[in-house]
Amino acid sequence: MSHVRLRGLSKSFGSVPAVRELNLDIEHGELLAVLGPSGCGKTTLLRMVAGFERPDAGCVVVSDEVVAGPGRMVPPEKRKVGMVFQDYALFPHLTVEGNVAFGLSTRPREERDALTRRTLELVGLQHKASGPVYELSGGERHPLARALAPEPELVLLDEPFSNLDASLRAGLRREVELILRDAEATALLVTHDQEEALSLADRVAVMRDGSIVQVGPPVEVYGSPATRWAAQFVGEVNVLSGVARGGGVETELGIFDLREPASGSVHVAVRPEQLELSTRDAGNAEVIAREFRGHDVLYRLRHEGGKTLLVQLPSLELHEVGDAVFVRPASPAAVTALTD
Ligand code: ATP
Repeated sequence: MSHVRLRGLSKSFGSVPAVRELNLDIEHGELLAVLGPSGCGKTTLLRMVAGFERPDAGCVVVSDEVVAGPGRMVPPEKRKVGMVFQDYALFPHLTVEGNVAFGLSTRPREERDALTRRTLELVGLQHKASGPVYELSGGERHPLARALAPEPELVLLDEPFSNLDASLRAGLRREVELILRDAEATALLVTHDQEEALSLADRVAVMRDGSIVQVGPPVEVYGSPATRWAAQFVGEVNVLSGVARGGGVETELGIFDLREPASGSVHVAVRPEQLELSTRDAGNAEVIAREFRGHDVLYRLRHEGGKTLLVQLPSLELHEVGDAVFVRPASPAAVTALTD
């Protein structure tokens, strides 16, 4: 049985629908990332799972217990759920000590008290134990959040790395992943950062306007986006039209393999790294912009057919703006037909 089951979950604020009839399952020990743009309802979804927001319709089931549903609303502190917020404060209405104890709420009382003391000592916050969480500095909140992360069976993370600079972010991301994996905790992370979702999660759920549009392992969500919108949101992409026949699709750039059989007129999502350039053949495109990114380069080309194309290549050999190049499918390049 899944650890978390969300069924027909809906929530509006006045006339603004934030989450719409959303269905999602999270397995035990799984790290699932909900990836979506700002305002698509990610935080509202998380707050309904945590118990801070009452759904208008549908239910939240955690470990086979209905914690929110018609006529039922289990309070946050009884849900065995821990939450790591953007600003690392956990529950603003609780003291520092209360937050630590909350993270340990599955333990018997005596053990919990002892562990709370030990955890506070460990992170050097015993002198602030009875103070409010908002008095802690950012630096003090980090170790606190980290100390708490492994204890609850289900950990909810709301853009936990978004306020950090890039170098800190990558390190902390790995650390949090290790803690979660080590504790075999189930984690639901919401983010608008596609790199974070793809690199961290076992599965990624792509969210748009309150609904999940695609769920799957990162490789699948990136490589076989379900819709044009999902393709464009989860990374850079060229959408090409073509004719599918058997295992391939013929486009103006040449033939790509198809991951799933299709036939007739289709649109396919071709990632920038699925195209390659050569200068040996007569050119069929011109380099109009170049973005040097250290380990790779993103070229913007104007194809002879008029289309603008994105091509990503290792930075070993550089093409200049104005160069005539020949662009074609990289080998192997398998693509999927988009459903809209
Ligand atoms: P962000 O990444 O910007 O935090 P999000 O994907 O988490 O966005 P939500 O914060 O869940 O999105 O908001 C979804 C929609 O619901 C938005 O239109 C938002 O303005 C609205 N909303 C959220 N909370 C409230 C509230 N308490 N009162 C009124 N409207 C709200």
